[in-house]
Amino acid sequence: LEANFSVIEKENGKKNGLIAVLHDVTEQERIEGERREFVANVSHELRTPLTSMKSYLEALLDGALNDPDIAPQFLQVTSNETDRMIRLVNDLLQLSKMDARDDHIVMSEVNLINLMHHVIDRFEMSNKQENIQFKRKLPDEIISITGDRDKLVQLMDNMISNAVKYSPEGGVITVALKKEKQRVIISVKDEGVGIPKENLPHVFDRFYRVDKARSRSLGGTGLGLAIAKEIVEIHGGSIWVSSDWGKGTTFWFSLPVNGEVVNTHD
Ligand code: ADP
Repeated sequence: LEANFSVIEKENGKKNGLIAVLHDVTEQERIEGERREFVANVSHELRTPLTSMKSYLEALLDGALNDPDIAPQFLQVTSNETDRMIRLVNDLLQLSKMDARDDHIVMSEVNLINLMHHVIDRFEMSNKQENIQFKRKLPDEIISITGDRDKLVQLMDNMISNAVKYSPEGGVITVALKKEKQRVIISVKDEGVGIPKENLPHVFDRFYRVDKARSRSLGGTGLGLAIAKEIVEIHGGSIWVSSDWGKGTTFWFSLPVNGEVVNTHD
């Protein structure tokens, strides 16, 4: 706590009052500390791929370029690192836009079930090799909410791509939607590595990773869940996680529906 005092004097010089202004500096310090940590994290995240690219480029310049066995492989590594930096910068831009509330949010009537089938179809097509199986527990009806379609697609994308990333070969991913009166609850369950209990409260923090090396090798930016949380919150919902270390993880999020769930069989 910080205090500033001012003495109130009358015209004849007599003191007849005191004003004390108290500031809560702990909150300011906390925000400043978080900002500093964020900048340090961003710098570190960018330096890692840059350092790696630099060493591969140097090796190429030192002669590896003329070795047809090595050159394509080294170029591929630098290309992958570039991709990761682009992903990271895109994620950062998106987060900062959402922070500043100047992101273009286009609300419209969105059919959630269609949207979920659409996203899962896409993952099913692109994960045939890993033999990942998708199970859908989605009601066979139209469930509409008011939301930003692109953002909701990204939300589903982030949740399912994590489930895929941390699943073993042949794992089953179950995507479910449950209706309640005022909201729907969507869950994405995997049979992957799981998250230790002590790490659970932090997984939505920016750049937090349970296993840094694993996340990096899978191409993660450490921002996917932070973005997911922002998207859920701008829709007025909440997000949470439960996990059994070694058995699998379930991410849940709720989205409010206006009044009753729009519910028409067709
Ligand atoms: P990343 O890009 O590293 O995946 P995220 O923000 O998406 O970043 O996730 C943060 C961390 O939470 C991950 O690094 C991982 O440790 C953990 N995590 C997220 N989803 C899962 C999951 N389905 N199973 C196990 N761990 C997960």
